Amino acid sequence: MTTTALPDTDALRARAEQALHRCGARLPAEGAAGHLAARTPLTGGTLLTLPMTTSEDADAMIAEARAAFLEWRTVPAPRRGALVKRLGELLSIHKEDLAGLVTIEAGKIHSEALGEVQEMIDICEFAVGLSRQLYGRTMASERPGHRLSESWHPLGVVGVISAFNFPVAVWSWNTAIALVCGDTVVWKPSELTPLTAVACAALLRRAAEDTGAPDGVHRLLLGGRECGERLVDDPRVALVSATGSVRMGREVGPRVAARFGRCLLELGGNNAAVVTPSADLDLAVRGIVFSAAGTAGQRCTSLRRLIVHEEVADELTQRIVHAYGQLPVGDPFQPDTLVGPLISTAAYDAMAKALETAQADGGKVLTGGDRQLREAAPEAAYVRPAVVRMPAQTAIVREETFAPVLYVLTYRTLHEAIELHNGVPQGLSSSIFTRSQREAERFLAADGSDCGIANVNIGTSGAEIGGAFGGEKETGGGRESGSDAWRAYMRRATNTVNYSDDLPLAQGVNFL
Ligand code: NAD
Repeated sequence: MTTTALPDTDALRARAEQALHRCGARLPAEGAAGHLAARTPLTGGTLLTLPMTTSEDADAMIAEARAAFLEWRTVPAPRRGALVKRLGELLSIHKEDLAGLVTIEAGKIHSEALGEVQEMIDICEFAVGLSRQLYGRTMASERPGHRLSESWHPLGVVGVISAFNFPVAVWSWNTAIALVCGDTVVWKPSELTPLTAVACAALLRRAAEDTGAPDGVHRLLLGGRECGERLVDDPRVALVSATGSVRMGREVGPRVAARFGRCLLELGGNNAAVVTPSADLDLAVRGIVFSAAGTAGQRCTSLRRLIVHEEVADELTQRIVHAYGQLPVGDPFQPDTLVGPLISTAAYDAMAKALETAQADGGKVLTGGDRQLREAAPEAAYVRPAVVRMPAQTAIVREETFAPVLYVLTYRTLHEAIELHNGVPQGLSSSIFTRSQREAERFLAADGSDCGIANVNIGTSGAEIGGAFGGEKETGGGRESGSDAWRAYMRRATNTVNYSDDLPLAQGVNFL
């Protein structure tokens, strides 16, 4: 199914400009470092051009964030929470504006774009609560008259590098937590989504003005990877939190490590669901289709591999193919559209190449993979999500192709399913559909799924902010968002206080 009409670039530009204006955003003045074209994947057209941040400006912004940090770190954490509370309020007021920009720049269907902004509001609430916690522990000292404890202190400037597919939520996960932890933030958003970034920066600037926080708590760098490299290599940036491809993480990780900086990496996934013979197939179909085809397969947690017991493989595959036939592809602003465009025609080319390779490996494309609306928007990339039955987990299945391709594999024993499941380089999200508690627990156990996220009877995507988000292996090992992920944004000091008149040494050592 394809919706026919698409909005034109001029109408999208006008809508984007109005949303930016309402958020209080001023587009940066002309610069000397070249221009960044803000595009929309809805038509492939250019909306606006923005000046890129020069290397001198980046240097000055990092200095401003560092100077603001020296002040901000001494503001009591609950008062830092007031800034994030205000940001959350402004995000609620401008939810529709920001979601509109997310749809225009990232191509997400509007309900998912609204959901992404809701996630920002949720993390602000979480961070405000956290601002009255930031707990350290007290440990038992082996020495009489001594107290042993730990304190958590602000870390410094946090450099946030983010990907196009969650253009605003990832920034908020990092920024809301970093700010209550007493850090300041310099953000390098994806070059594919600069307008959403300008809007977020404007809302945070307003929140800082309203609450009397230093203006330098946040700075925005606009540009490509060379702009991100400024954060990677600068020793004033205490933590680099980078979200994107494994390729990017491979470049960023060692460079930050070389200067002994801290790095939090949130990289690609290759997420799988295991479906056992006891699964509720109605529920499984819904969970699978949302995870695999939702966001046009452009979530880091998108479902890419389905590992189905051979007894139910034919029935489940038929039902998924049927459901795929009902998915309206088209204008993401239309309320009945469920699949918007891919980010670019290059993303479609990568998808087509993956499908070609899968077929050469013996795979059978059961549905999808064909481009839609080509005449209406030749520079955009609308595509029907694909399902491919594979004879084995070949090299292409072990790669992340950032597009809606679902590979179906079959298994006989749960052991075999878990081996297949873990037999990829990435380790982000996973799930099992089963009615058997034994199977579910086996999947969640130490020798079960090796991912940072392991679910039962829901798909791989759509995490809540309350849990720590991230994955293992090539996904990078970082954790963001809820639980105790805040610790990555602070430094820990262990304190030993002697309140006695003696000086006993630890481990019974005698000296003087
Ligand atoms: P990308 O790697 O192309 O770019 C991500 C960001 O890194 C951009 O801002 C880019 O400018 C910057 N960058 C690239 N190379 C750099 C370098 N050498 N130094 C500094 N910065 C550099 O990724 P993308 O195409 O925007 O996003 C899709 C990828 O991101 C997918 O692999 C997806 O799985 C992953 N992703 C992961 C998560 C997660 O939480 N694990 C979340 C969203 C997206």
